[in-house]
This record gives sequence, C-alpha cells and structure tokens, in this order.
Amino acid sequence: MVLGSIEAGGTKIVCAVGNEQGEIYDSINIPTETPEITIPKIIDFFQQHDIQAVGIGSFGPIDIKKNSKTFGYILQTPKLAWRNYPFLDAIRDALNVPCAFTTDVNIAAIGEYTHGAAKDVNSCLYITVGTGVGAGAIIHGKLLEGISHPEMGHITVKRHPKDSFEGSCPIHQDCLEGLAAGPAIETRWGKKGIELSDREEVWELEAYYLAQAIAQYIMILVPEKVILGGGVANQASLIGKVREKVHDHLKDYFVTPEINEYIVTPELKNNAGIVGGLVFADRMVRK
Ligand code: ADP
Ligand code: ZN
Repeated sequence: MVLGSIEAGGTKIVCAVGNEQGEIYDSINIPTETPEITIPKIIDFFQQHDIQAVGIGSFGPIDIKKNSKTFGYILQTPKLAWRNYPFLDAIRDALNVPCAFTTDVNIAAIGEYTHGAAKDVNSCLYITVGTGVGAGAIIHGKLLEGISHPEMGHITVKRHPKDSFEGSCPIHQDCLEGLAAGPAIETRWGKKGIELSDREEVWELEAYYLAQAIAQYIMILVPEKVILGGGVANQASLIGKVREKVHDHLKDYFVTPEINEYIVTPELKNNAGIVGGLVFADRMVRK
C-alpha cells in the first residue's frame, strides 16, 4: 500500500511517501511558516503520488477527541498563525483520503514500537527532548490518549539545590520542559547544547532532571522499553548519566530490565516519526 506521513514540528514539516513496512519512497522538508504558505506545499507534494491514506503527527497542543467540534485542530500553540487551525481537515479535504491525526511524539512512539527499538515488546514510552519535552506511550499496541494526549513534558520535578535558573516554560516556568529542554540549556549556560559537549556539569544537571521524570513515568506506566530521542539526546554522554540516575531513583525496590537495554536511543534515528506516520496511516485504512 502507498501511504503518506506528515511529521509537523515547530520549525519544519517532514512529509514522506512509503509503505507500512516503513520503507520510504520519497520525502520532503518544508519550513513551518504560516498555514497559507506551508499547507499548499504539503498538498502539492502528496498530489504527485497515488497515496491511500495519510498519518499526521503534529506539534501541539492539538485536539485528538474524535467527537469534538475542533477534532484535528491545533489549539493554543505559541505559534500564533497555527492557533485554532484545522490541520486534519485541511489535509483530508484537499487529498480526499482517510487521514489519522495525533501528536508528533506519538507517531515517533508508533514508529519505534512497530519497526524500531520496541518492536519485540508490547509497550513503550518515547520521550523527545528538543525545543520542548514531550512523550508518547503505547500500551498493548494502543496509544495512551484520554481527555487529551499526554503532556509529560510539563510535570514538576524537584529543583537541583544549586540551580537558580528560573525556567523557560511560558506556562509553568520551571516545569521539566522549562528546566531541561534545549532552550533552557541554552539560556542557563549561554551557549547551544551542541557547543557544551565538554562541560560535564551541564549533562549531569540535564540528567538529574530527565532521570527524575523518567523514573516517575516508568513507575506509573510500567513500559517495557523507554526510548530517549530528540536533538538534546544526541549529546553522547547524556544517556549513560540518565540510565545511572534512573537506576538510583528506582533503587532495588522497582526492578527494570537491564538498564542499558531498557533505556535506549531511537533505533530509527531521525525517521522514527515519519515511519510511525506511515504505520499510523495503515492502521487507519485497516480500521
Ligand atoms: P525540535 O524539537 O524542534 O523538533 P530537535 O529535536 O532537533 O528539534 O531539538 C532541537 C534542540 O536540540 C535545540 O535546542 C538544539 O540546541 C538541541 N540540540 C540539537 N543537537 C544537540 C546536541 N548534539 N547536543 C545538545 N543539544 C542539541
Ligand atoms: Zn510547562
């Protein structure tokens, strides 16, 4: 089956055509400008292919409640041009094929669950640490969704006693995202994460926050695999520190599989989301 996939982030939108096995035939990167500029480019790309369905993963917050009047809309995003924008309708009406809609991190979770690091287990948690912090969970093949999609990046973590950075979340200030996302690292230390590789204390503090959150996600959701992705997770020394600190949090009371095999980086690398979108589209057609 020829399927379409859209991974819509705050800076760029990746569109791909492929199949449910995760094979990608063609793809394009489009900058996230205004819907008026960006949506026609997306439509134009897909019109060059004979696709049967599209899986969409969007930056949020979004409305995923099927019986809601604003189902498929982007909601109160700081990106004003996209606020209250009917993303799903715009794609579906133009392409006239079934379209499935969820968050960008949820499609990455589906990708890793089906064809990546979690393909041999029945549940997983995919966390992204980039411009924001977000996570998606899959439990026995189903996305964890309820009154909304999860907002795991905005939980409260215990502040490090030596950290006086006020936090960069526009809503909560010092939630996990406000203390640990890429922009928080940049503002706290005065340089981009990628330029701070040799500063041990940066990644110790980063792991201090991420490990607290991950230990809590693990105890609540009991996933069989935890995948840590996003730009910040490209920092090579981070995952080892996170594993160590998660292990310290859980002590010997809460036993996980061997930590190096339990908390891992995405097997599909940067393609997790786009592959997940193809699988999500396929699920939609089969329903
Ligand atoms: P987005 O969240 O917009 O989809 P990314 O996941 O690529 O994009 O995250 C971008 C953030 O990750 C930026 O804040 C950037 O500074 C940070 N980042 C990217 N690469 C690295 C790296 N190697 N080490 C640390 N931080 C990084
Ligand atoms: Zn927040």
